Amino acid sequence: MLQIRNLSFGYSRRDCVLHDVNLSLGGGEIGILLGRNGSGKTTLFKNILGLCTPSGGRVEYDGRDLSRLSGRERAGMVAYVPQDIRFGALSVFDCVLMGRVARFGLRAGRADYEAAERVLSEMGLESYGDRNVEHLSGGERQKVAIARALAQEPEFLVFDEPTGNLDIANERLILEEARKLAREKHIGILCSLHDLNQALDFGDRFFFLKEGTIRYSGGREQFTEAVLREVFDIPVRIIDHEGETIVLTGGTYHEELAIHPAGPHRGPGADPGGLRRPGRANGSGGRRVRAGAAHCGG
Ligand code: ADP
Repeated sequence: MLQIRNLSFGYSRRDCVLHDVNLSLGGGEIGILLGRNGSGKTTLFKNILGLCTPSGGRVEYDGRDLSRLSGRERAGMVAYVPQDIRFGALSVFDCVLMGRVARFGLRAGRADYEAAERVLSEMGLESYGDRNVEHLSGGERQKVAIARALAQEPEFLVFDEPTGNLDIANERLILEEARKLAREKHIGILCSLHDLNQALDFGDRFFFLKEGTIRYSGGREQFTEAVLREVFDIPVRIIDHEGETIVLTGGTYHEELAIHPAGPHRGPGADPGGLRRPGRANGSGGRRVRAGAAHCGG
């Protein structure tokens, strides 16, 4: 279990980017970190990964203080999948093997080659081994980034906006791969996402960061209009449509207001007026509402 206790951090003595952050996430669970640009998400990841040293509090994994572990020990526990990884002109196999560097030091051994082969096969990338990673699509490169993190054999994965540069089909693919990892390998995943509907679909627990503090955390019950409005400083509406919870923000929210001038405070059970979930294909009939409008933060 990842446990962050009363963590504070600033890039200089004078500033304090994170204050008194508390967070816990178990193996096999998917936690989503939500917050506006500049709220401290990346800084929190850097503290978890040991790239920044907390000025107060600590990050523990299964009761062990991560800051007291060697780089090699830490790499065996936590791996990082960055937003848009640039590997350089390497083969896919070598990229994945690089995930083992903290384990093998100067020279890869047989176990490392076998681990890289196994992960490639698990991710359905066997036939990509010799391809130049620079020539792959964004979705394929992201899969290689996940494969590289898995080759590290971590117990915990940190994903920084894993779908930021992907099209809708690849977004789905990557999130489904990640969910499989959490469920089948019991790997804990902490992930930042800007798309609130994707977050709802994908997450088990949610952490809302504002101005360096976790204001709210918990399960889906935390997804309320009041919480989202406070965290993102924008008008938000949550509707239930055909059994699905849908968050409307930005353009979709305003368009919905135009369709139903009675506004966002209509009574329960009101007809959602053919609203479609942003970012999803529209079915037959109904009104098409602008896609992709449920992105917040930056
Ligand atoms: P987010 O990932 O939520 O967008 P960040 O963690 O990147 O937020 O940034 C949080 C705050 O820390 C911002 O005010 C940002 O300007 C500041 N910050 C980020 N990186 C540095 C850095 N290397 N040096 C100084 N300030 C930084």
